[in-house]
Amino acid sequence: MQTPHLPLATPDPWYIAERLGLTIHDQHFNDARGYAYGPHDVFLCKTLDWYGRRCTLFHEVVHVAFGHVGHQDPITELHVRYTVARDLIPWPNLMHVARPGPAAAIARDLDVTPAVLRDRIDAATPTELRELRKARRRHKAA
Ligand SMILES: [Zn+2]
Repeated sequence: MQTPHLPLATPDPWYIAERLGLTIHDQHFNDARGYAYGPHDVFLCKTLDWYGRRCTLFHEVVHVAFGHVGHQDPITELHVRYTVARDLIPWPNLMHVARPGPAAAIARDLDVTPAVLRDRIDAATPTELRELRKARRRHKAA
């Protein structure tokens, strides 16, 4: 299901989870997309679509890789979200699909959720943002 035309390959969360020895459990949550329980188990909400599962699993994989156990403070959580966004959306990939139009469609092209795309833009460096503004101007001029 990964988009083949993107310039740079991105991590495969299922492969990393397997390498870390994680067991993925499907459950229904009313209040969460997923969570990691200890170093061996990740729980994902059954209602997530493929993009939601991919991003949520990678988020939990990063928690496990960082050695996080239990609830994290908001700063740590933001750090994990930005790590996920940067790893799943290398800037050249975003520049490859950047165009005017709904963010949801651009997120799909990048195999991520709109929330992860938003995090990637929030986590962009000033140089990346300048590049994005230039690309938008090019689209407007075309
Ligand atoms: Zn988290």
